Amino acid sequence: REDIELEVRIMPYSDDQYLLMARDVTQLKQLEQMRKDFVANVSHELKTPLTVLQGYLEMLDEPASMPPAMLTKAVSDMQGQSDRMRNLVDQLLSLSRMDVHRTDMFERVVNVPSMLETVKNDAERLNQDKQHTLEFDIQPIQIHGVEDELRSVFSNLVSNAIHYTQPNGVIRITWKMVGQDAEFSVQDNGPGIPAEHVGRLTERFYRVDKDRNSKKGGSGLGLAIVQQALEHHHSRLQIDSVVGRGSRFYFRISEELVIKK
Ligand code: ADP
Repeated sequence: REDIELEVRIMPYSDDQYLLMARDVTQLKQLEQMRKDFVANVSHELKTPLTVLQGYLEMLDEPASMPPAMLTKAVSDMQGQSDRMRNLVDQLLSLSRMDVHRTDMFERVVNVPSMLETVKNDAERLNQDKQHTLEFDIQPIQIHGVEDELRSVFSNLVSNAIHYTQPNGVIRITWKMVGQDAEFSVQDNGPGIPAEHVGRLTERFYRVDKDRNSKKGGSGLGLAIVQQALEHHHSRLQIDSVVGRGSRFYFRISEELVIKK
């Protein structure tokens, strides 16, 4: 098989015999490659905004020679780029926090409806430029879980729907019981995602639009964070998407974490 990598050693066994030892290092090599890719991605992501910031700082060496309009633009671009770096660092920190906190900490009751109320307020602010119709249908279901992780799950999925759907779309957000489980779902009528990308969206730094400088995408860490937080809650992200029609991102929290009234 071509997909297996072996590390082979030959050792003397007796006068006329040798021992051939073969170790399957496929997984080890894959992990090593993932680690290298991760470091390369982080470096690239930080380098782009840094280059812009440095360019402006050089220009600002002589601010008197800059027309006021250019100065205003420089300050606003610098603000934008430093926001981008801040977001990236926040996202990296939340991934690494989740890597460390692998123990179950479900003694906490999370009041999902009140959390979704804040998500809704943030969504309405984000929606000002897009003018989507946002429909929320939130049932009073509480669960055991980790508050920060669940908040970032909800807000990532809702803000992605707002961000990627063309203006005047319709986005439907529901939190309800399906059988004994609780289900959260965000349905949009945005561009949809080609099937070959769907299975890879939760990989760290994976984006459908590969252009790092594209205005459309973020860092590609959002859904990796969602997936990691959901795994912690014994769940996984499901994605149904049809190009040209829209996408539905959803997951279920199983009955042992749902608080029965
Ligand atoms: P990003 O920071 O790029 O938004 P995510 O991990 O949140 O990273 O999403 C990964 C990719 O999935 C995005 O770059 C985008 O191409 C695609 N995507 C996510 N949500 C949607 C959506 N609701 N509609 C269409 N594409 C989406």
